[in-house]
Amino acid sequence: MRTSRAVIGATSLALAATSVLASTATSATADEVTPAPTASVADNRGLSASSSDAARTSQARVVREAAESPVSGTPLTMPSAYPYQPQLQLYRDNPSDASKPAQLLGHPDLAPKLEELMAKSDRISVQVVGQSTQGRDLYLVTLTAPETSAETARQAAWKTKIKDDPTAAAKDTLLQAQYKTPVWISNNIHGNEWEGTDAAMQYIEYLATAPLSEVGSILRNNRLYFSPSLNPDGRTNATRATALGLDPNRDMITNATAETKSYIRSVQAIQPIYTADFHGYTGVLQIEPCGPPHGTNYEYDLSIPHNYALALKVEQDVVAAAIPGNPLTSAGGIAIPYRDDQEGGWDDFPPVFSAQYSAFFGAATSTVELPLGRAGAGGTQTPERAKVNTAVALQTMKSIVGYMNDPTSAKEMLSNQIETFRRAQSEEPKKQLTVSGVSSVPGPTQWRPLWDTLDDQEPLVLPNAYVIPRGAGQRSESDAAALVKQLLFHDIEVDRLTSATTVGAKTYPAGSYVVDLDQPMRGLANSLLDLGDDISDTVPQLYADGAWSYSYLWGATVDKVGVVTDGPIGASTPVSAPTSNYSVPATAGYATFDVAGVADFTALNALLEQDVPVSMLADGSAVVGSASAATAAEVAKTYDIDLEPATAADLEALDDATTKPLRDLKVAYVGTADDRIALTTLGFDDLTQVTAAGIQADASLLDGVDVLWIGSTFSTATAPVAKAAVQGLLDRGGALTGRGSAAFNAAKDFGLMAGTALTSAGSATALVSVDTPKGSVLEPYRQDTAYIYPATWFTDLGAGTTVQQTYSSKPMLAGHWRPSVPAGSPVGTVPTNGPAYAANNASVVSSETQRRTAGVKARSIVFGTSVFFRTNPKSLFSQAARGIFWAAPAAASRLSSPAGGSTTSPAQPSTPTQTTSPTQTTPAPSTVKAPSSLEVSTKVKRAKSRAAKKTVKVSIALSAASATPGSTVTLTRAGKTLAVVQVAADGTAVVKVKLRKGRYTLVASYAGTATVTGSTDTVKLRVR
Ligand SMILES: [Zn+2]
Repeated sequence: MRTSRAVIGATSLALAATSVLASTATSATADEVTPAPTASVADNRGLSASSSDAARTSQARVVREAAESPVSGTPLTMPSAYPYQPQLQLYRDNPSDASKPAQLLGHPDLAPKLEELMAKSDRISVQVVGQSTQGRDLYLVTLTAPETSAETARQAAWKTKIKDDPTAAAKDTLLQAQYKTPVWISNNIHGNEWEGTDAAMQYIEYLATAPLSEVGSILRNNRLYFSPSLNPDGRTNATRATALGLDPNRDMITNATAETKSYIRSVQAIQPIYTADFHGYTGVLQIEPCGPPHGTNYEYDLSIPHNYALALKVEQDVVAAAIPGNPLTSAGGIAIPYRDDQEGGWDDFPPVFSAQYSAFFGAATSTVELPLGRAGAGGTQTPERAKVNTAVALQTMKSIVGYMNDPTSAKEMLSNQIETFRRAQSEEPKKQLTVSGVSSVPGPTQWRPLWDTLDDQEPLVLPNAYVIPRGAGQRSESDAAALVKQLLFHDIEVDRLTSATTVGAKTYPAGSYVVDLDQPMRGLANSLLDLGDDISDTVPQLYADGAWSYSYLWGATVDKVGVVTDGPIGASTPVSAPTSNYSVPATAGYATFDVAGVADFTALNALLEQDVPVSMLADGSAVVGSASAATAAEVAKTYDIDLEPATAADLEALDDATTKPLRDLKVAYVGTADDRIALTTLGFDDLTQVTAAGIQADASLLDGVDVLWIGSTFSTATAPVAKAAVQGLLDRGGALTGRGSAAFNAAKDFGLMAGTALTSAGSATALVSVDTPKGSVLEPYRQDTAYIYPATWFTDLGAGTTVQQTYSSKPMLAGHWRPSVPAGSPVGTVPTNGPAYAANNASVVSSETQRRTAGVKARSIVFGTSVFFRTNPKSLFSQAARGIFWAAPAAASRLSSPAGGSTTSPAQPSTPTQTTSPTQTTPAPSTVKAPSSLEVSTKVKRAKSRAAKKTVKVSIALSAASATPGSTVTLTRAGKTLAVVQVAADGTAVVKVKLRKGRYTLVASYAGTATVTGSTDTVKLRVR
């Protein structure tokens, strides 16, 4: 049972109280509400209208709401003083809570306990840092000695200095002496790994209430952050996944879940020096560092000495504690993968895990695994085992904090974090840690003898920058915008070229995006954008993902340019959001847009949903008629689409046989959360999940369905009713589509395809190269890379089966994919599986089959690549959508060309869509607000003389279309005025200031006049 009716509680009340529109789903359950004490709404961050009773919410809506979760857009607001003690929303007790059988805390128990501790202690602070998919509050609890607002401001300034100005931080003795060590203990990200939560709550209570003689030093020297439960829905429902059905501890760089969005915002806000994420269960307690292969982009020499020493301290303490029932290894210790696993059993290769993500903040990190596995009914835990695990977790937390409260460790680990950020901004090449460098690494030395060649990091040549072109060189402007948004979410600095810039042989137009690797999050940026490494030969298997490059898998063209030691590639300014792609034709005529990226397909589906006639041309673009101009403009705005006037050639093509009038598709799918979320994201929202058994029981499930998408096994061998229903779907021209051998075999069963599907064995997780033959369905906005986990390829194809894409002759680009032999084969068996066997074979196949009714044909398309894997490869979402539209039946009627070939409908007066009519008679308001969104361009002039070298003359042009000439603009930094200038007749003002190298947040304040009220705008500036 997925659903909890108990979560409704105070959320609905609070929403009503603030006039936020509660959804119908929540208001319908008002009778179930348990009144909470007057909720102090202002204090409850992360409150959203998405709180829901999932039972009454469509799955598509849950997916959309998760995508719009409140923490996705903005960084967390941290307290301005400690303690910070808001009133929390209470949740009704849930009798079916899966934590109950083990006598563990349920999510509804957390708020009252935290309230109770806040009432009696000034050492505890609680923030709500988001909500789970089902609407449960996610808490961040801080234990520290009280701080005045001045002290908190100073700590915050130091945190910024460590990251943005590490050279100065390294010399700041006051910072080194008084910066409170941020330690973060998070728990329960896998919902059915419970006990970290209970241990954290016990430890929180101890720290909040114990005599200062015991905890005073810890609270003065540290900020201890606890996330009691990162996945309260899973906790309640006994699921590893979130309520969306995704594994959050593989979602750190995809962020399809509200829970990981909250995690990312938390790690940014905390900037931890050590973080542990508590899980279970591995038989004996396990704490990292990990074994090989090690992530290529980590500053391993800075993290491993203390990380391993800390693990040894935990081992020593846990063994000494002799917790009854706690199993130890045969050697009498706990498990430390770095020491105990040498063959790729527990690696830190991909940044998809919480601990491996946090490491990019210069933290030593660990995934901690508690010992005793679930032994209760229905996948729950038993009270006996829960008690042992909780005691082990509590001891582990105490040992971690003990280690971090040691002044020597704390100081060295802070220096390591500062050094991580310094290297990131140094423009120095990345040095990999290898055997030869081990003896010169400072800090604790216990790890040294264990490092061997298998541990050696892959060599890495960092580029100068990644450029995301705009204009003709960009495959998909919409995917480019989505990528920029994702990079900014991850605190990666993105700049925009202020003028056309030539790098090597290529010229990038102004407005192209630049991710210069001279930035604090260099390691993360490169990990996310680089191709990655082929590590098939290094280890026999990987624990999880082997490749994840945004540059190759998120649909946008991204160029890797130069080397890190090069200077800036050209004049640019930082961006806080991607440039909008939205535009509409000035005249309401026939219009067209590129259907290249995910948002384009979403927009296309939104048009079809609103019964707008749309035709797709052979080049993959879409055309809408003049009668739909207003709707099209609205959709273009919603999805940030560049809608252009259709050309004469577009209009001529409308009658071509290769042009397809599209219909609003009803899709039924067999599959997982991946299929559901990907199809929903693409805008296929008339979506039903089906199984063969389900259709067998109720054949009407396929009534009106245009497309069956198959993502997992679908066999109708023993389901004749289901078989007939699918035949019926095909007989009316419906399509069978899908991914993997499941879809191919289903297509075979229905006589749609002939051939054999082969699938990779072992841990095949890779970024691969693919070839698209001329005339392929996938030729428009072609993509040359794909993702497999696993790979499926199709051989011995029959006459009616067409190849739409193949694995290239050398498919392997990055990740892990070895030739393998079937399990149990005799020694010496020649492998028949691996990249070489997939090479040149079909990765995507299709067919078109004549049905019984004359003229009716059914189409099928099957992908052998992992198009929807963990919802990460956005580029493949678009391939799948293109395949679905190709295979699906066409609309009954065709969008016709306008009479006389004019692109503007003669019947409709041409109305400007973006400007207001000059004849408008509405009286102007007595005052208007000065524009607050300003175009900022900077020109940097480096001083020539040696003496002046430290400062750079920066001129900042502030232009505002309707700023009043003669009014003034004041430019301030941290409250200090830098300059006051007058707005010129052309609405611009130029400010010239001298600045040192560094990062600046400047505020431009426009003075008001009699008719214009003042406004401000914040400018982020980088001086190199
Ligand atoms: Zn886990």
